[in-house]
Amino acid sequence: MSAANAAHRWDVLIAGGGPVGACAAALLQRALGTGRRALKIAVLEPNRPKPIESEAPLDARVSALSRASEHILRAAGAWDLMPHARLGSFERMVVWPERLPARSRDALTFDAAYAGEPNLGYIAENRLVQWATLEAFESAGGTVIAGGFSRLRIEDERVEIEAGAGTLTCALIIGADGARSRVRESAGLHSHARSYRQTAIVANVLTALPHESTAWQRFLGAGTLAFLPLADGSSSIVWSVDESLAAPLLAMPQEEFEKELLRASDGVLGAVTLRTDRAALPLGRLTAERFTVNRCALIGDAAHVVHPLAGQGVNLGLLDAAALAECIGDACRVGEDPGAPGVLRRYERWRKSEIAPMALAIDGFNRFLAHGAGPLSRLAQRGLTWVNRSDEVKRFFIHHALGLSGELPAAARVGARSDRA
Ligand SMILES: Cc1cc2nc3c(=O)[nH]c(=O)nc-3n(C[C@H](O)[C@H](O)[C@H](O)COP(=O)(O)OP(=O)(O)OC[C@H]3O[C@@H](n4cnc5c(N)ncnc54)[C@H](O)[C@@H]3O)c2cc1C
Repeated sequence: MSAANAAHRWDVLIAGGGPVGACAAALLQRALGTGRRALKIAVLEPNRPKPIESEAPLDARVSALSRASEHILRAAGAWDLMPHARLGSFERMVVWPERLPARSRDALTFDAAYAGEPNLGYIAENRLVQWATLEAFESAGGTVIAGGFSRLRIEDERVEIEAGAGTLTCALIIGADGARSRVRESAGLHSHARSYRQTAIVANVLTALPHESTAWQRFLGAGTLAFLPLADGSSSIVWSVDESLAAPLLAMPQEEFEKELLRASDGVLGAVTLRTDRAALPLGRLTAERFTVNRCALIGDAAHVVHPLAGQGVNLGLLDAAALAECIGDACRVGEDPGAPGVLRRYERWRKSEIAPMALAIDGFNRFLAHGAGPLSRLAQRGLTWVNRSDEVKRFFIHHALGLSGELPAAARVGARSDRA
């Protein structure tokens, strides 16, 4: 391999400028990208999103962002770049099993007011979060390199990388290149992956009844159906069903699909009209055995993928980004090498211990609440009613939903309270 020239030498290279990688980059750039011992930081991203025109209709790929994520995106300088008019806040979550009517008194309701919060979080377009975090990184002085990562070779003092942009070297590579991470594969980090044999059908819909700034989720015997409230009064649906059921739902004419949606939602928001095409996403779970190896760390979906029913994937990833940036920041401030094994091990221990119980719980919700009709499923459904009857237990769950439990990085804890209530 030819010697890399100075323009190709970096301290930290982040492969993947999705919401998680770009956020890690922006946090690092803002903390360590200036001054006498400034780090040179770059993001490798082959598919950078274009700016979104203010009049453009809302995209169907959205994520529910927790309060912790809001704080992290503020710390990264990305939050205020996202136009208010495109962020839908949700003040309530209503969850109910198939056997109950849609607006039953026994439906599990989490209200932000129980916890003295203005809302439980925001629904944001994925491409908007990605665009804003990349913008924040660049405005802080970071470099975005157009092109993909191909493979790496780890040496004692540096990593050599083959990318679309040529050969690059760095002291630390961060793999944020999603579920099919090439960084993970190339670094020899093994993972356990399992398909759920389910498909998520996503689309934006208009509903006859207003969404009431509420995220509605019904556990069906064979999947889940969620309506997430969008800023313009429409809703984003995420309908997770077994693969065999997804194919006919995707193929049927629009009117028939809308009738199926009305039936599956038990008419909770009245008649439903599709506003975008239906998109289909295969669902699976994945956990990397190790999140780090010498001079390489994985964050976001590259390290772990969970079922979307709890809306936690990007929230967990943003916590990874903040935790890793904090570990690197602490190390650099005392003159340590950002790619040193001790620095990366601290990050790995921290995040693995937070993610393992969350991934287990989400898997359990999928097995016992969203699927199955056996005794354990019935017990889990009764558990929903029990949770509903105790304000204290509800506050505990709301705290979790806000992302404010567990060992939090500083960027997730601090930050002005939501001002967009
Ligand atoms: C239906 C559905 C609904 C969801 N809803 C929610 C929700 O409500 N809340 C929530 O928190 N999460 C949700 N998630 C999960 C969330 O979408 C993911 O966890 C999140 O997108 C992961 O972000 P990431 O940046 O780690 O990876 P990605 O978003 O996959 O980004 C990876 C980036 O890496 C780039 N890349 C790929 N290959 C390379 C390469 N070789 N070199 C360089 N770059 C590369 C890609 O172009 C991309 O920009 C949902 C997921 C699904 C499927």
